[in-house]
Amino acid sequence: MSVASPQAAGGRPGISAGDWAKAIALLQGADEVCLACHVRPDGDALGSMLAVAHALRAQGHPRVVASFGDQPFEVPEILRFLPGLDLLSPPGSYPERPRLMVTFDVGSIDRLGLLAPNASRADELIVVDHHPSNTRFGTVHLIDPDAAATAVLACDLIGALGAELTREVAFGLYAGLVTDTGSFKYSSTSPAVHEMAAQLLGTGIEPGAVARELWDRAPFGYLGLLSAALGRAELEPAQAGGHGLVWTTITKADRVANGLPFEAAEAVIDVVRRTEEADVAVVLKESDDGLWQVSARSKGKVDVGRVCTGLGGGGHRFAAGFTASGTPGDAMARLRPLLGEDG
Ligand code: MN
Repeated sequence: MSVASPQAAGGRPGISAGDWAKAIALLQGADEVCLACHVRPDGDALGSMLAVAHALRAQGHPRVVASFGDQPFEVPEILRFLPGLDLLSPPGSYPERPRLMVTFDVGSIDRLGLLAPNASRADELIVVDHHPSNTRFGTVHLIDPDAAATAVLACDLIGALGAELTREVAFGLYAGLVTDTGSFKYSSTSPAVHEMAAQLLGTGIEPGAVARELWDRAPFGYLGLLSAALGRAELEPAQAGGHGLVWTTITKADRVANGLPFEAAEAVIDVVRRTEEADVAVVLKESDDGLWQVSARSKGKVDVGRVCTGLGGGGHRFAAGFTASGTPGDAMARLRPLLGEDG
């Protein structure tokens, strides 16, 4: 099965036909292709990168390198079901000066972590992304803020390369699509998203199994973590321009007490954001280095992408984040006035 009607011929506003043509020519002419996605990868970042890695491999590319810039180099536990983890290698063995590098779901070069210097030295750098806050740090930009996921653009790219949509390729793309649409629940879920999903499922992926891996399982300690985080949640109805703010924290001590890694804290916001009295939900997660990774979600009244970009982070209208030092109280004090600006 090949990919039907890729929009690579210029159907995406914001991506020039020249950039598409250059990306294809570079990929088809390269001896070595170096792929990278953002640090602490999610399903869209890792899934898109692995899908393209599989496609290039299947086309007989002599050398495909795929990595992300985390030390220690560990694939998040919930993504270990993805086929092709053997295609990954740690950032330490990444070419120092790639001739051709491709990044996935990376909004700014610092999101590459340890691989940022490699990207800045690359002869050609193709940026495949859908963050409105993308800083356009490459030499070729396949960036569409209206794409529901980077996986949508990766799918176009694979189609434009003439690669076959195998089950391995489709697995990564599907993981990206369901991650960034919240299992087809977010407003980004367009008819085109469902058409792409139908095409991917046609390769034999079992959607229930993917959903279970991504969302429906956790160690018992997760209940303790959730309990600690929910127990200290605060509702501030007057904040976010009167549309309401709900927020909480997850400390390193919470994770240690329950024997959980940082990534285990990621899904807590999906419970917090259900609060119907609040348009905006915020969870501040203390990382192992003592910084706070702040995640924000909006139901639509407030553009949290704008707010988080203003605080040095990035993201989309409905989901965004930034990194803060100091106390959670300091971070919230910087955040509240910006949340009020959308009225
Ligand atoms: Mn994404």
